[in-house]
Amino acid sequence: MIIEPKVREYICTTAHPQGCAESVRNQADYACKQGMVNGTKKALIIGCSTGYGLASRICALENCGADTLGIMFERQANGRRTATPGWYNTAEFHRLASGKGVYAKTINGDAFSKEIKEKAIELIKQDLGKVDLVVYSLAAPRRTDAEGKTWSSCLKTTDEPFTEKSLDLRNNEITEKTVEPATEEEVLSTVKVMGGEDWADWIDALKAADVLTENAVTVAYSYIGPELTYPIYYHGTIGTAKQHLQKTMSEINQAHPDVRAVISVNKGLVTQASAAIPVVPLYFAILYKVMKRAGNHENCIQQIARLFTQKLYTPEGFRTDENGFIRMDDYELLPEIQEEVKKCWKAVTTDTVNQYCDIDGYWEDFYHMFGFHYSDIDYTQDVDANVEINGIVM
Ligand code: NAD
Repeated sequence: MIIEPKVREYICTTAHPQGCAESVRNQADYACKQGMVNGTKKALIIGCSTGYGLASRICALENCGADTLGIMFERQANGRRTATPGWYNTAEFHRLASGKGVYAKTINGDAFSKEIKEKAIELIKQDLGKVDLVVYSLAAPRRTDAEGKTWSSCLKTTDEPFTEKSLDLRNNEITEKTVEPATEEEVLSTVKVMGGEDWADWIDALKAADVLTENAVTVAYSYIGPELTYPIYYHGTIGTAKQHLQKTMSEINQAHPDVRAVISVNKGLVTQASAAIPVVPLYFAILYKVMKRAGNHENCIQQIARLFTQKLYTPEGFRTDENGFIRMDDYELLPEIQEEVKKCWKAVTTDTVNQYCDIDGYWEDFYHMFGFHYSDIDYTQDVDANVEINGIVM
């Protein structure tokens, strides 16, 4: 079939297999150039198919030569529908790993469930023995917990309504958006989905099954961002969940003294998860412009390759701040970057959107996530949307 992008506001409902494969190969090439470190040998990547989780899996392979077991929740192609980008990304990742003679298997299913945890443990026992790294990189709209209750996350404030400039992604116009406060139930529900409970459940289950090596590392990804977005992000429902995740780091370290849990606070980037947050895409579009001009912009793979080679696996151990967090948002939060972002934020209007925002860069990243806008791919050609993944466990 001929596959074209079908964009609905902040989501694209199609994905291109060749473009997704190219994006994975580009990321692998970049990571490979950063050199090898003495890091993970066997890793479990929960949320392995897109964004930060995919980048982590690629760095585990390219910077450490590690065997990886991945967990994802993706859809394969059926009839007239393409697969999701994460499906095509994973097919290419498996091809790359197998080309190097390195183990890669992926479980496609709900990482929150007991059944998928048990399946992962069974596979680790059977194929790997133990893992020394667990990356927790889930971004999900809902979670069904062990008691069978389904919780949904929402993107709201936690006190007052919040009105701010926003980028209307349908027409690149600057509009105003009001985000309503969440109810207590909605805050709790978001914490249940995006907080640390499931991360701790995973580590408890892996530990109880004795499939973690001594001093195994587990890293979960968080975001804080600038004060500008605090009302909708860090002080909003999602930030409340992230603070819970951060607290879980200490709880895991206390409960399991031979596990080293750490939070990596990453840079804000366009991914399927972040494009859906109100107000934030405008901040990203301005941030991209400012950081590219300053020469310190990084994408997912640049962030994670720097994490693996300079902050996670170093001879002195983790490089953290005073709270014990690894700060990959160090460049984003530099005072000179944030000062400039604030100025642009105040000044930007629909007429000056291209002057202050990296709109093209934003959309380029967006289309690349779905495998589109690669100059060497002929998108007018018929392609087979059905792509098999060698080593998938359904
Ligand atoms: P993403 O949407 O690109 O990736 C989410 C991953 O989770 C995918 O692999 C998906 O298949 C998997 N997943 C979702 N629901 C699942 C389920 N029920 N079972 C199994 N797998 C499931 O998201 P991302 O932006 O890479 O986010 C990953 C983490 O990084 C999140 O915790 C996010 O908050 C954090 N983070 C993101 C940013 C950002 O700006 N994008 C910044 C800092 C931190």
